[in-house]
Amino acid sequence: MKPLCQRGEASCGACCGLYNHSDHSSGAVRARMDAHTDAVAGVPRTREAFRAAAGRLAARAPPPLFPSVRVCPLLGWLDAGRARLGCLAHPAVTGGPELRDEGVYDAATCEGFLCPSHSWLSEEEAELVAATCGDAHLYGLVVTDVPFVRACLAAVGGIAGARVEERHLGRPAFHAALRALLALKEELEPGSEGLYGAFRPGADGEPVPRRIDYESLGRAGSPWDEILACTGADPRSGNDLDRLEGEVRRRLERCAAALRSPGERR
Ligand code: SF4
Ligand code: SF4
Repeated sequence: MKPLCQRGEASCGACCGLYNHSDHSSGAVRARMDAHTDAVAGVPRTREAFRAAAGRLAARAPPPLFPSVRVCPLLGWLDAGRARLGCLAHPAVTGGPELRDEGVYDAATCEGFLCPSHSWLSEEEAELVAATCGDAHLYGLVVTDVPFVRACLAAVGGIAGARVEERHLGRPAFHAALRALLALKEELEPGSEGLYGAFRPGADGEPVPRRIDYESLGRAGSPWDEILACTGADPRSGNDLDRLEGEVRRRLERCAAALRSPGERR
């Protein structure tokens, strides 16, 4: 499959620590990326200069939300419009020198790493996510959570009685509705399981399965259990289960209505 990290208008920096701070709102994430980009912009393309710049940025960075996930100061904006995220130390960005050794890993690790979504997502699903999310904040939150993507697409298809396909994004109303559904990921409380759905290690370092403890909440399960589990809707994650369930239902119904309606094509 084509890499997910840069795909169409979408770009991701999740594994470089993009969201790993208590304030992971779009504004805060963008401000951090602005700071990285500005700090590296005028620096000579040498290992020493990049090491020093990375050290200065790391020293003033807020503490990570999950200490086991590293936050790289060399992640930043690749374009003048500040819409595309990527590695500021990559040879294709520096104009030649390989400077990724000055980040939080080494160049070989950065070069070789592909997150599990690369083997789980189908090409069609990947294209759908990129075309729907398309911006540097939402895309990384969604593309790294394959169960969330699948649960959302299956639920929309189940209500509408039709399989969701990329061509349906040509309908502006459906595109907007599906984006709003996936954007639940942007509305979760800090530290929520939903933010690190694909990465929540237990004491032994193995992933902890996501599950909502309905019994302890004194209520029955939800027809949208899979989506809710992927968004960390358990109140112990700081999120309000009933509120999120209502949002999931509303957003799914909007998607299904827009999918059923032929609508106007772009
Ligand atoms: S989390 Fe996955 S898609 Fe995102 S930058 Fe890392 S490897 Fe690429
Ligand atoms: S140096 Fe590695 S960890 Fe840092 S931004 Fe580049 S790819 Fe990510």
